[in-house]
Amino acid sequence: MKPKIVRTIAQLRREIAEYRSARTAGGGTVGFVPTMGYLHEGHASLLRRSAAENGLTVLSIFVNPIQFGAGEDLDKYPRDEERDIRIAGESGTDLVFLPTVDEMYAGRRVTTVTVSEVTDGLCGASRPGHFDGVATVVMKLFNIVQPDRAYFGLKDAQQVAVIERMTQDLNVPVEIVPCPIVREKDGLALSSRNVYLNPQEREQALALSRALSKVEPWIAEGCNASELTAKLRQEIALSALADIDYAEVVTYPDLAAPEGSLPLRQMRETFLVALAVRFGRTRLIDNRLLNLTEAGADLCFAK
Ligand code: AMP
Repeated sequence: MKPKIVRTIAQLRREIAEYRSARTAGGGTVGFVPTMGYLHEGHASLLRRSAAENGLTVLSIFVNPIQFGAGEDLDKYPRDEERDIRIAGESGTDLVFLPTVDEMYAGRRVTTVTVSEVTDGLCGASRPGHFDGVATVVMKLFNIVQPDRAYFGLKDAQQVAVIERMTQDLNVPVEIVPCPIVREKDGLALSSRNVYLNPQEREQALALSRALSKVEPWIAEGCNASELTAKLRQEIALSALADIDYAEVVTYPDLAAPEGSLPLRQMRETFLVALAVRFGRTRLIDNRLLNLTEAGADLCFAK
């Protein structure tokens, strides 16, 4: 079904209020999927999950300027509104919120939401100010939509950790639902940015998922965190075009360095193995979440 297109905050609030007062199917709950558009199967999986779990599914498409740093890809970020609306409809979306930058940031903004600690490393270190931009826009969108549940992909695992901390710390009445990473058949994690890759870069971009697929055996062999990152780097470096931004193992959801140098398999923790690698001008991220919390448990990938 074709979703309803909404471009202003006032109209979106009206539509959602109307839905809530009518309280129809799905227990009357509102599910929300924030995105920057150029939708792919990863976004669609979040929308389908929201549609299955809620009476109303709201998708936002907003390329948020304040989460891009100087020299990043804000100006060339891919856009295709018509196609996005079609995919949204096919995935069970009821309302698509498509605000302009002016609609979202009218006037001078002097308030920023800053989440500390979990933003110190990984993408927070490589992209200063990025998570301030993300937390601020997500908080604004939460206040506009007031969803019961919000769906985020674990492709951006640090973002999930940041949003979960923000909603806990600020008592935002929303349930954050982390969803699994959707991949191409050959393993490449879907991303709107994959369209930037030329054929050679696209082929070599498999270095990320290939390295991550070896994490489990490396941990089973007894690697500690620094040995594991060394192996990840070696594996990725086999692709000549790969320029590693980071390859790290951190605890999840605190995103802290594992303590000591014990083999990871001996530590009862959930670990995030996270990669960011440039191919030409395109920066790709990917990760695996490993749940090793249960004593005597086999290695098992979380979620
Ligand atoms: P973006 O449009 O890239 O800002 O992403 C919007 C939402 O879709 C975020 O919660 C992402 O984590 C999620 N997402 C992006 N790519 C994937 C993927 N390959 N699998 C699952 N979720 C994804």
